[in-house]
Amino acid sequence: MPHRLISPRTASPQELDAVVHVLDGADIIIHRLEGTITHWSIGCENMYGWTREEAVGEKIHELLSTRYPVSQEDIQATLKSRGFWQGEIVHRHKRGQDINISTRCVLVNLPDGDQSIIQTNSDVSALKKAEESVKTREAHLTSILDTVPDAMVVIDQKGIVMSFSKAAERLFGMTADQICGRNVNNLMPNPYRDEHDGYIGHYLKTGEKRIIGYGRVVTGQRADGSRFPMELHVGEATANGERIFTGFVRDLTSRMKIEEDLRQAQKMEAVGQLTGGLAHDFNNLLTVISGNLEMIEDKLPPGPLRDILRDAQEAAADGAKLTGQLLAFGRRQPLNPKQVDLGQLVSSFSDLLRRTLGEDIKLSTILSGAHFDALVDGPQLQNAILNIALNARDAMPKGGSLTTEVSRVTLDADYAKMYPEVRSGNFVLISMTDTGSGMTDEVKKRAIEPFFTTKEVGSGTGLGLSMVYGFVKQSGGHLQIYSELGRGTTIRIYLPVSAGGNAGQTDASVGAAKIPLLRGSERVLVVEDDSRVRKVAVARLNDMGYTVIEAENGRRALEIIKARDDIALLFTDIVMPGGMNGDELAQEAKSLRPGLAVLFTSGYSEPTLAAKDILAGAQWLRKPYTARELAGKLRDLLDAS
Ligand code: ADP
Ligand code: MG
Repeated sequence: MPHRLISPRTASPQELDAVVHVLDGADIIIHRLEGTITHWSIGCENMYGWTREEAVGEKIHELLSTRYPVSQEDIQATLKSRGFWQGEIVHRHKRGQDINISTRCVLVNLPDGDQSIIQTNSDVSALKKAEESVKTREAHLTSILDTVPDAMVVIDQKGIVMSFSKAAERLFGMTADQICGRNVNNLMPNPYRDEHDGYIGHYLKTGEKRIIGYGRVVTGQRADGSRFPMELHVGEATANGERIFTGFVRDLTSRMKIEEDLRQAQKMEAVGQLTGGLAHDFNNLLTVISGNLEMIEDKLPPGPLRDILRDAQEAAADGAKLTGQLLAFGRRQPLNPKQVDLGQLVSSFSDLLRRTLGEDIKLSTILSGAHFDALVDGPQLQNAILNIALNARDAMPKGGSLTTEVSRVTLDADYAKMYPEVRSGNFVLISMTDTGSGMTDEVKKRAIEPFFTTKEVGSGTGLGLSMVYGFVKQSGGHLQIYSELGRGTTIRIYLPVSAGGNAGQTDASVGAAKIPLLRGSERVLVVEDDSRVRKVAVARLNDMGYTVIEAENGRRALEIIKARDDIALLFTDIVMPGGMNGDELAQEAKSLRPGLAVLFTSGYSEPTLAAKDILAGAQWLRKPYTARELAGKLRDLLDAS
């Protein structure tokens, strides 16, 4: 590398002595090219702790353990070519601590032809430290800006953006480079944009605060012009006599959505409570009506009266169907959950769907993966699927396609956080997508409300999705509606996966109607608080040949069980007033008479899991039940024991 050669100055030893003498307070060391120290100022004594006597004659890099930023050869070369070298080196004090030195070395020729170096040094340790702490702080600040979950914007008192966090970049859709140096009002829509400079000016002049120190909900504007609700907190600080303001911005879009969802869920909960309660009472009345009609039927000769009776029975059956739907929505539908492979259930059900939906709708079923076991009430799930399919058909009057996909998904805690109703875990997802009309936001919001329908009077009850919703919730799952107007709708049903098998439950309702009414002669204790319901039950049991004892509550029933040992079966309602419900009664009764068979009935809830565990083999009937169902269950239980 060609360098411009500067010939070193020449200085006599006396001149060197004079230099050190005059500048004795400064840190000056003169040494031979090879390192031997010849001059050592008082300043050096103070800085390094070595006295002149100790230092002179020593090799400088040995005495001060010099550490150079570049190789010594490089330094020598620079000295030779330029006549001086300057840079930052590290020296060691006599006591051992390092001193950061900014040094300037000048090469001088001595009259005897030898060469020396005049080193003027200054201690830059404090500066170095300050520099490092600035760097650390900068790194610290950057790490805050990069990781703070809220968007953070720092502006000066003119409103110019000084820093912009990573979260802010994501939120506003622009990089820090794009906004730093520009006015913060670029992040706001009008009229705030035009007024913002005025706000700061007003504050600086009057000290009157509008946002500073308080949080406020304002509107932000992204780079693409879209707006969003945001919560803004502004803090204030002074730097170099100028004020700076730090804004923390939190996007409220999702929170507002969550709040909206929560309100919706609470509304559903309230409506569900009301509906479920009403339906429950109605169910009891229907049990009485249809039970009595059934008994009349047997005794009536053929003729016009029979037809009238049929009509009444049909109406009662319709009523039972309606209350069943309402109970389903209110999550009070008695469910008989069993271990079901949902893949199989969906596939085998698609034949029936195909017939129901007609030829204009292309039906496909996709099973992604395996292991779709869930603990659900199979027939009720089919009913839910049917309802969704019928909605899809109605949304595709000119035909289209309906795709049902079964897969396994894990909803994590983050997902659950976004949906107030969802709990995390492993689910089997049944997702049904149609290519129909889709829903407007308004319809989507209200679709699961009971009796909400957009269909003509007579063609929609508005209970389809309500039932599906109630059923899914009651099964520990989660329902999601995704719809795009004009494109189609996806209904997703998440049902919790189950690991083990489920014993202790049999499906007595399937096929039960075909077997002839079974009879028996055992003694049955009927416990039911509603006297009319009890009367029907007693009459039916008598008709079947059983000997019946009745009790109007749990306590009375327990007294009877204690008093006699000839009772073969306890037939009890689950929900009863008077301090002892059916579960508790059955448990007490079992501990007294382990051989006792137990049949529960309820229009409302199923036996608690605890009761089912203790009462292995117990069965239950959902109200309203037919005489046939009752007869079947009784024989099941009595013949097993
Ligand atoms: P119904 O079918 O008796 O109207 P639902 O509770 O089943 O009652 O549905 C409520 C409303 O939700 C429907 O009237 C319809 O407006 C809308 N909806 C449900 N499913 C779909 C779908 N697949 N595509 C478009 N709209 C639907
Ligand atoms: Mg429907």
